[in-house]
Amino acid sequence: MSDHNLKDPRKIYPAPPFPDQPQRAPGLARRMDPRPDHGEQSYRGSGRLTGRKALVTGGDSGIGRAAAIAFAREGADVAIAYLSEEEADAREVVSLIEAEGRKAAALAGDVKDEAWCRKLVAKAVSDLGGLDILVINAGRQQYRDKIEELSTEDFDKTLKTNLYALHWIAQAAIPHMPAGSAVITTASLQAYQPSPILLDYATTKAGIVAYTKALAKQLIERGIRANVVAPGPVWTALQPSGGQPGEKVKNFGKDSDFGRPGQPVELAPVFVLLASSEASFINGEVYGVTGGKGVA
Ligand code: NAD
Ligand code: MG
Repeated sequence: MSDHNLKDPRKIYPAPPFPDQPQRAPGLARRMDPRPDHGEQSYRGSGRLTGRKALVTGGDSGIGRAAAIAFAREGADVAIAYLSEEEADAREVVSLIEAEGRKAAALAGDVKDEAWCRKLVAKAVSDLGGLDILVINAGRQQYRDKIEELSTEDFDKTLKTNLYALHWIAQAAIPHMPAGSAVITTASLQAYQPSPILLDYATTKAGIVAYTKALAKQLIERGIRANVVAPGPVWTALQPSGGQPGEKVKNFGKDSDFGRPGQPVELAPVFVLLASSEASFINGEVYGVTGGKGVA
């Protein structure tokens, strides 16, 4: 990010219109045009997470990938969880983590499955030799124009991915996490300003905020903090793979104060702060990175 010091933040990244680029869910970051900036070239660490051990769900692409890269550059070992269809994106992240001399673990599986969630945590703990940063970030977003089109199957998949998995993964992980650890969840601006075409998704994002705030109050009794990041429009594979209609993808981020979407790397400093012991008095908070829309 430091390359962009003293530059107008509206002008440092691509702005719409973007090319038409439909993908099937889960989308791949490597197929996006322009390619998102997850910090591959730009994020510079300064030892803020030295020796820490992190699990990041959805760490193959988008916001989770930016967090995974930043954590490794700050000195943490990182396990990423993702779907098997995303192996190509995940391999790139593993290489980037290893290039920092940190340990990487690649854990492919479906978080809609409770048994996998528990296994995933156990594998992360054994591969990394412990766990003290938990980022629950995997998400499903599939727009439906009308209430009649939002099937029970859709509703179930979105709640399983965005809410049940949050509970299953947190429940399995917390017993392994020592005092000083941090939990970070990814909600959305949608929790506060829901779109008409995202009934199920917006509902889960409001749920993530409530769950994390309640969890924060419970976990501080063990010396563990929990906070929420609430992004606005961010240029990730979630959007062209059914998250938004094609026309909205084309103009993605146009209505932010910046006239452009955020890039995943622009979320990374917030994840690093919330994970680090510098955030020692920050708990149960919602950090908006919305491009000016605000979460309150
Ligand atoms: P992304 O597609 O790059 O990341 C989402 C990840 O979720 C995928 O990479 C995938 O690995 C994982 N995932 C989805 N379903 C899964 C399943 N069943 N099992 C295992 N993993 C699964 O997109 P992103 O935008 O980086 O999304 C990350 C988080 O950010 C999500 O929670 C999303 O809701 C949230 N968010 C995104 C935006 C945005 O504009 N991109 C805005 C607000 C919130
Ligand atoms: Mg992905």
